[in-house]
Amino acid sequence: MSQEQNELAALSQALKKTMERKRHLGQRRVGRGPCTASPRATTAKIDATPVPVAHLAQPQVLPASPESQTTMARECLNLDQLERAASRCQACPLHKGRHNPVFSDGNPGPGGILFLGEAPSDADNSTGTPFSGPPGQLLTDIIVKGMGLNRQQVTITPMVKCPTPGGRAPAGEEVELCAPILRRQLELVNPRVLIPLGQGPANFLLARKSPLAELRNQIFESQGRQIVATFHPGQLLQDPAKKRDCWADIRRAMAAADIKKPS
Ligand code: SF4
Repeated sequence: MSQEQNELAALSQALKKTMERKRHLGQRRVGRGPCTASPRATTAKIDATPVPVAHLAQPQVLPASPESQTTMARECLNLDQLERAASRCQACPLHKGRHNPVFSDGNPGPGGILFLGEAPSDADNSTGTPFSGPPGQLLTDIIVKGMGLNRQQVTITPMVKCPTPGGRAPAGEEVELCAPILRRQLELVNPRVLIPLGQGPANFLLARKSPLAELRNQIFESQGRQIVATFHPGQLLQDPAKKRDCWADIRRAMAAADIKKPS
């Protein structure tokens, strides 16, 4: 595809997701959930602010740096703008494997919970939705059966927005270049409780280099947010014995988010 076709495809995908998000928001207004949404949980996900032409028309200046990425991310005034900017980002080589931009799924719902994965899977890359494949189904079960919520009542997002070759862990430089997008996303979504799924996202949020075992079984605080680390659903599929520990983590996160266990 030519550059213009790539950009048109990215814009079309971003527009489609915007429409889906608005539709979801409409459903949430009339839906009935197990928890009462707090004022914070209704922070505007949708902002009708016109998108600056810069985000629509101008390709990103390369080479990118964490500083230029931070500038780009800060210029985005709402999540729609940030999603569009991420869908066109070519700051690191991972953009070459991007078929459909994978930005986030869901909304800041009751309790303001955000699940943070590592990178989009092949299935996510096909659908444009994070956690689409079998690990995603398990995550959905955790949200629905374990927490009594649905996927539209939490935010799910990857740490880096483009898939890695062969599903490898993203390299340090790739994480560094994508981090400004995630940081701005966290500012705009404003979750209260972050649940990093796996060692990479947990170490990113906690600015550590520790094994996951050292990061679980506790609640961390950072910038007014509580962080409860647990396993990536893919790890649970490989080793179902870990599910018991995962449930303990999820209960810890629910307590931090003031979400009652469904009866
Ligand atoms: S992974 Fe992040 S920094 Fe790299 S191209 Fe994709 S959006 Fe840009």
